[in-house]
Amino acid sequence: MIYLDAAATTPVRREVLEAMWPYLTGDFGNPSSTHSLGERAARALADARARVARHLGARASEVTFTSGGTEADNLAVKGIALGAPRGRHIITTPIEHEAVLESCDYLRRHHGFRISFLGVDHTGRVDPDELAARLSSDDTLVSVMYANNEVGSIQPVAELAAIARAVKVPLHTDAVQAAGWLTLDARALGVDALSFSGHKLGAPKGVGALFVRGRVPLEPLMHGGGQERGARSGTENVAAAVGLALALDLAAAERETQAARVTALRDGFVGEVLRRVPEAELTGHPVHRLPGSASFCFDGVSGEAVLLELERAGVVCSSGSACAAGSDEPSHVLLAAGFPPERALTAVRFTFGGESTEADLAAAATAVEAAVGAVRSLAR
Ligand code: PLP
Repeated sequence: MIYLDAAATTPVRREVLEAMWPYLTGDFGNPSSTHSLGERAARALADARARVARHLGARASEVTFTSGGTEADNLAVKGIALGAPRGRHIITTPIEHEAVLESCDYLRRHHGFRISFLGVDHTGRVDPDELAARLSSDDTLVSVMYANNEVGSIQPVAELAAIARAVKVPLHTDAVQAAGWLTLDARALGVDALSFSGHKLGAPKGVGALFVRGRVPLEPLMHGGGQERGARSGTENVAAAVGLALALDLAAAERETQAARVTALRDGFVGEVLRRVPEAELTGHPVHRLPGSASFCFDGVSGEAVLLELERAGVVCSSGSACAAGSDEPSHVLLAAGFPPERALTAVRFTFGGESTEADLAAAATAVEAAVGAVRSLAR
């Protein structure tokens, strides 16, 4: 099988699994326990938090471990909005992940927040000038994703954060897809909150983290034993936190070489697909895009039908985000980027990473040509 769905999830790296193992077996203590087993778990958790904080340019006390990207996004958006001393207005984008969009909608329905959406261009990027024109110091929160999960476009997050900082409105960025590829240094980016998830970069599913800058008030969503400095009650998943820290260390050490290698692979793949498949269009930004992301619209075919053909040929990819997989609704990201619904339904996304090879992508490009050809001939 050629796995080209790394944006949906990645396998756990062997080193990560090995680092986690002791905390699932011999050192299984609860970090809140005062005996030696508990203390060992607490030390491992503290070490993991300090390492994650280093990648974020943060203090350890600004890092909250969560059950993944969805929870980190929920905690950021709802927690900051409900903890905010002023305002009832959130500015976001129409291309966010559902974890952000649905959190905003919850705040609208249950807490009377007004939600405004920045426009995006045909490549799925926002215009910082629009944020500058629309943002005021009475606003509560800005939430703009770092990189999009469907089309791979990277947002000018540092520029947006500078605009928000000038009027003292906190800015959150969903860095779930950026993690592993782009710097997560929240201080350098100037963001007040940043969320990411382990399973996109070789840590297990079900772990993530949220950075929130120290002075930003955060209302917890989970109430209970007061773990994570009260920001997120619940016995900590020590092994997963250890795994997340190591996955980040490994990704950071490999980032430059991997980004260069994978960008070259991606550009080769995109070129091949555009050459082989008539009327194929690359979606997302041609330059400001994640190294491992190649997404297309193939005129006149159903993206889902192409996926089935590709899987028969041993190539696994997706038609959009994993959350929307199997739905016959057009992608909200492509609609927001101005694609007509019938064209958005032709989308296919290929995402790859550390394990993808040139041979895989050459074989995949041939398979794409055959799959689109087969679906088109059936449609005629
Ligand atoms: N945000 C983005 C941009 C994502 O791509 C995803 C998952 O695909 C999430 C949030 C949710 O993360 P998780 O799967 O860890 O809940």
